[in-house]
Amino acid sequence: MGDGANVETKWVYSFGGGSSDGSAALKNLLGGKGANLAEMASLGLPVPPGFTLTTEVCTAYYDLEESYPGGLDAEVDEALKALEQKTGKVFGDAANPLLVSVRSGARASMPGMMDTVLNLGLSEVTVQGLAAKAGERFAYDSYRRFIQMYSNVVLGLRHDTFEYILDDYKDSQGFELDTEMEAGDWKEIVSQYKAAVQDKLGKPFPDDAREQLWGAIGAVFGSWMNDRAILYRKLNDIPAEWGTAVNVQSMVFGNMGETSATGVAFTRDPSTGGNTFYGEFLTNAQGEDVVAGIRTPAPISRARADELKSDEAPLEEVMPRVYKQLTDVADTLEAHYRDMQDIEFTVEDGVLYMLQTRNGKRTAAAALKIAVDMAKEGLISEDEAILRLEPAQLDQLLHPTISPSAKRDVVVKGLPASPGAAVGQVVFDSNEAAHLAEAGRAVILVRVETSPEDIHGMHAARAIVTARGGMTSHAAVVARGMGRPCVCGAGNLQIDTEAGVFRVGGREVKKGEIITVDGAEGEVLFGEVEMQQPDLSGDFGVLMAWADKVRKLNVRTNAETPADVNVAKEFGAEGIGLCRTEHMFFDAERIPVVRSMILAGSKEGREAALEKLLPMQRSDFEEIFRIMGEQPCTIRLLDPPLHEFMPHSEAEMQEVAASSGMDIKALKAQADALHESNPMLGHRGCRLGITYPEIYAMQARAIFEAAVAVASETGAKPVPEVMIPLVGTRKELDILKAVVDTAAKAVFSETGTVLDYLVGTMIELPRAALRAGQIAETAEFFSFGTNDLTQTTLGISRDDAGRFLTSYEEQGIYEKDPFVTIDQDGVGELVRMAAERGRATRSGIKLGICGEHGGDPASVIFCHNIGLDYVSCSPYRVPIARLAAAHAVLNKG
Ligand code: PEP
Ligand code: MG
Repeated sequence: MGDGANVETKWVYSFGGGSSDGSAALKNLLGGKGANLAEMASLGLPVPPGFTLTTEVCTAYYDLEESYPGGLDAEVDEALKALEQKTGKVFGDAANPLLVSVRSGARASMPGMMDTVLNLGLSEVTVQGLAAKAGERFAYDSYRRFIQMYSNVVLGLRHDTFEYILDDYKDSQGFELDTEMEAGDWKEIVSQYKAAVQDKLGKPFPDDAREQLWGAIGAVFGSWMNDRAILYRKLNDIPAEWGTAVNVQSMVFGNMGETSATGVAFTRDPSTGGNTFYGEFLTNAQGEDVVAGIRTPAPISRARADELKSDEAPLEEVMPRVYKQLTDVADTLEAHYRDMQDIEFTVEDGVLYMLQTRNGKRTAAAALKIAVDMAKEGLISEDEAILRLEPAQLDQLLHPTISPSAKRDVVVKGLPASPGAAVGQVVFDSNEAAHLAEAGRAVILVRVETSPEDIHGMHAARAIVTARGGMTSHAAVVARGMGRPCVCGAGNLQIDTEAGVFRVGGREVKKGEIITVDGAEGEVLFGEVEMQQPDLSGDFGVLMAWADKVRKLNVRTNAETPADVNVAKEFGAEGIGLCRTEHMFFDAERIPVVRSMILAGSKEGREAALEKLLPMQRSDFEEIFRIMGEQPCTIRLLDPPLHEFMPHSEAEMQEVAASSGMDIKALKAQADALHESNPMLGHRGCRLGITYPEIYAMQARAIFEAAVAVASETGAKPVPEVMIPLVGTRKELDILKAVVDTAAKAVFSETGTVLDYLVGTMIELPRAALRAGQIAETAEFFSFGTNDLTQTTLGISRDDAGRFLTSYEEQGIYEKDPFVTIDQDGVGELVRMAAERGRATRSGIKLGICGEHGGDPASVIFCHNIGLDYVSCSPYRVPIARLAAAHAVLNKG
């Protein structure tokens, strides 16, 4: 035993027999399983007694270079003695042997990651005692199971070593099933197993109960550092320092004949959340048999059996008295823990024992229903119900999904990049996708990978499938932002664009054929599969209304098409935080006019083209104001560099030259001249507005004319907030605010209607954040453009495929993609500082955020904490932001 341990430390906690040293509150020390066993025992529930070696033993074990802290062996001895007293059995005794299970149990559940040993304590001597009580056949069957399990987990031998022996033996006897094996057969197997251990390891299988126990304890602590466990912890953010506990518990046998059983149950349905007892069981079996799937378990209740159309008799009918006791225990546990429980139980010769309880994992739909039901039942408060649902989980509920009863013929599996499901015809080209969608067709865009040039095709498509790229590829990020289902990285897809076909596993899908995409599962399915629409009323509406009562932040949306604005409004958006006007210029009818404006050599030429654009923009804004009523609409004036509107391909150049009557060479020269070598920082945003004020003047006029028109049409007063992009100094804003104010004044005097409006700016450059104090002298609001602010602060952008530097994440240079979460690497600091400086100049200045971070739950909480007025995000993220904003309030303090 190592030294250096604190003598005060209690390493071992006993439970069972009506009392416990520990409780559920000691989860960090006892692990989830140990803490809940202690709690259940204290509640007087039938828990086989046992004891827990704490997670601190694990930590000490590794600190002491894999030796145990001083005093541990004495505490284990004492706990064993107490256990012998409680059970009336003796560890290692020939006549009345105590047998135990040894199981891991970390703070966070790590299913299947670590090791378990059952039936420990069996030996040549103790097996006799067990035989005397439970029969020879049962005793030797248990013994051979123990030898196999222990040899695998503790001694490191492979399972198949033992499986071959058993198979050979059965063959030699002409047996098919284990049930044909008699006591003598198992006895023979035991001796062959032991011989195999001796043969492989050069030493005998341990026959001493205590030696076995310490071997198993060491194996469980050792399994904390196995590769599987390490990987699982990494994926789930579980620190290695937490350690695992070890639970030593007296054995109960579910495999002692037809009056014994073992099973797993949930106090409510974990897939729908319905308040029905849910679960399955096997008679005459041990726990592993349920998990191993060798025999199919039977449903627990009559109702469940009917639902599954199962012919198997449910526990409710096989053991009615036990069933009643089990449902009583389930009720007690749910009322006590105030959450849905996932329980494991064993029935030994008609007597029920509880082996585990924990909060059950559940789908998003179940989480929602259970939270709302429990609040209505008075089990939890509305605030607790709000906290029971992770904002990010909502994403699963906001998209149409494949009906659970639908038949699935899978074409290919990839990554579940963006949830939801969609049906449509296969298209390989983004332009074609856009054309077909315009003609009212449902299309699925299938590409090797996507780039920013595919945006229109992605927007037009119902879903996106790519052969390459991960969960943060361009396709994945953009699809999630747009709320489009997406499967990416489907590596087996061979796309032959020329032939208009993709092939996978010997099957072929041609352009135009119908497929279904299941973004939540990452599957592409043949044909049209039946869907179900998300239900935004019912429990969803109830929970969101509770969240709305609590939250302080307003939630707006980034949207410009009437379709998106409508969706956002349905999802509860309270205004528009960003209407990107440039998107309105890409329309097929408009782009030639935009190009003629850009190519005009003079102010007059530009103004003539702008005159044609004015009514188009006005009607865009009218539609938006009509939908949003008196809710604020932040409309951003033209932002991107002009080359984005220029033709790119040779064919397009030809077409534009022909229609504009321009010489193709001159056209190319113009396009080249406009090309920004650094489009992020070049001649764009307010810089463009300052060079060509007539563009902003036209846009401002369109906004005010639309607002006045809708006001007189509907009687509701639109609330325009005109936003100038890419400002770095107050002077820039002064010049452009004057352009906007002039347009407003003109429209108001022409129409005789005066409306309130604001002029403000984006804070999306570090310089703007630094100058926020001066900028606020002119700006009536700030909206943090954290997309550009992240790129310009970090000096790093996403690549063309939308990927952030993966190597940086892998090496821990950035913990999380800073384009997703704001509060790291300076971006959050700049936002906080600019907010403070802005407020210092203009108290009550309206502050919001419209970068992608506005839809990230952690960033929403950050925005709440620094006192922003609102967050704005893409339509499908609006409910997520509403819930996150409520969490921000409730998690405080
Ligand atoms: C931003 O920069 O954060 C922003 C919202 O603008 P865009 O994404 O259009 O550059
Ligand atoms: Mg920007």
